[in-house]
Amino acid sequence: MEVSSIMPKRPKQFHNESMSGYLFRLFKSNHFMPNSNYLRELELTYAQLLNNEVSDEIFYRICPWNRKRDFTYMNNTKSILGVLNDSWCNKLIQKNNLKFCPLCIQENFYHQLEWCILPLKMCTKHFVILQEGCGTCSKPLDYFSFIQQSCIFCLSPLNRLSIDQIQCDIFSNSQLNLKKTLIFREKSVVFDLEANDYIELVFASIRFLDGFKDFTGFSQDNMDIFHNRKYKTKSSINLAIAFSNADWLYTNFPNHFYYVLDLFIAKYKGMKRYGAFQHFETVVKRDCFTEIRDAFHQYCIQKLESGIIRRDFGVFREEPKLLQKRKIIRREEVKIEKGVTYGKMFRLAKNNLVQMNQSKRNEYYIDQTTLDMYLKEEKRWITKKEAALILGIHAASLESLIRSDLFEVSLKYSGKSKRINLDEVKELVARCRGELVKSIPSDYISFHDALIKYTIFNLSIVSLIQLILSGVLIPVRQNSEVTLREIYLNNDKLYKCLIAHKERNLTEKGYFFSDLLKVFKIGEKRLHRLLKEHNILPDIVSHYKDGRARFLYKETSKKRIQEVLVTNKKIRD
Ligand SMILES: [Zn+2]
Ligand SMILES: [Zn+2]
Repeated sequence: MEVSSIMPKRPKQFHNESMSGYLFRLFKSNHFMPNSNYLRELELTYAQLLNNEVSDEIFYRICPWNRKRDFTYMNNTKSILGVLNDSWCNKLIQKNNLKFCPLCIQENFYHQLEWCILPLKMCTKHFVILQEGCGTCSKPLDYFSFIQQSCIFCLSPLNRLSIDQIQCDIFSNSQLNLKKTLIFREKSVVFDLEANDYIELVFASIRFLDGFKDFTGFSQDNMDIFHNRKYKTKSSINLAIAFSNADWLYTNFPNHFYYVLDLFIAKYKGMKRYGAFQHFETVVKRDCFTEIRDAFHQYCIQKLESGIIRRDFGVFREEPKLLQKRKIIRREEVKIEKGVTYGKMFRLAKNNLVQMNQSKRNEYYIDQTTLDMYLKEEKRWITKKEAALILGIHAASLESLIRSDLFEVSLKYSGKSKRINLDEVKELVARCRGELVKSIPSDYISFHDALIKYTIFNLSIVSLIQLILSGVLIPVRQNSEVTLREIYLNNDKLYKCLIAHKERNLTEKGYFFSDLLKVFKIGEKRLHRLLKEHNILPDIVSHYKDGRARFLYKETSKKRIQEVLVTNKKIRD
């Protein structure tokens, strides 16, 4: 038998009529009662029929003439849930009890799709509270009773209507927006969110709101959102209030939000507090919640800094980077986490390098910004030993390098000893490492061997480095990363440099008696006599510890000696 042939009367479906509501209206006008055989043939359960969960395909099998129409309204619960996660079904879909607008049904008696939305408790046309269940015995109402317009429990007609006009704008706006989001798929008013994100945010926020008074002023009761009422029906009005409070929570952002979090923290401790915060953190992780997340994090940091919540709070475990954003940290944490001793903290605070404050409870708090700045800067200042390792020279030699102003040093970064600027040490190595070669030529000598070999020339580490820095000597190396230990210098060139250097030294500093003998290639006696005859006195006389004296003659004196020698030679010739 063709299923449709038993329904000759075919009422028109309203555009916003629920699918099950329409089907029961269809059954009624044909005096038809769907029995189990009929349902089995359709592969439809009675529960599906009673919960507006009829699929499109089964709908067309019941009323195939609708297929021929240009447009049919597939107003089942699936059309509400749409792209939403299935898990929201229990929280968003009204089940086991129908609600309806007492004014709408007087205009046209049919069941509207939006009345299937569990948190919607207001007629979006008349702004009255939707009536739920039988007005006489309060027992739940199903589609059959609704269409029959009488209660199956007390048999009273469905005409005891109470009109409850809504005066609260926050509530009615929230309800209107909820319908727009779920029925028309518009983005939410708060933070412009997609339906799924909005619902997720609301349910995460409800955890903070539950148990408090209704902040919208719509009702005088405390919110009792998750409590199920008798007959296993979920409370539509409580959820509607919860949604409007969640909307209120995000207006005047973040003031209301912080206000409620403060109340929540003051009231709840332990798992309830922990759970709500952790859940909220996992929800707002996603990018669409950036603004909320930032405000939430700022709140958590602030509470941590003031010691109201502790660092083992779930939020910080979920988001460890948050802890670094704190402005102040307890002294104990600084010691454990950053390895800074109390003594050092006091020294830094005393020298105004880091801010430290003492709380009333005798706890010390360190300012993270100045501490981090100090610690970062401190890393740039190394000990002589560390510098010696980088340079590849003996630590004892460092003092002479410091004296020659090759590095900046500071006493700020250690209790007592000098610290050397790391960047400058590295830069010096980089400037001294010369050219990269495949093999070291045989006439090259290592930096250290050069120092040993030319001690007779008084070659110091500083003067050797300066020869390299000035570009006179160009070292070579075999590896890209080297210290001074691994650089090599042209032996011949170095020797010539040292000779030239010595000559220059003589000109500038002067000549010892022995130097004059070499320069003029004359005997000791003759020079003594010459100096005496011409009364040429030494410019500087230096006395040694053993009592001996050495005589130094400057360039002018040397020239006088030379003139005498030249004249003497002319006379002789
Ligand atoms: Zn209405
Ligand atoms: Zn009743």
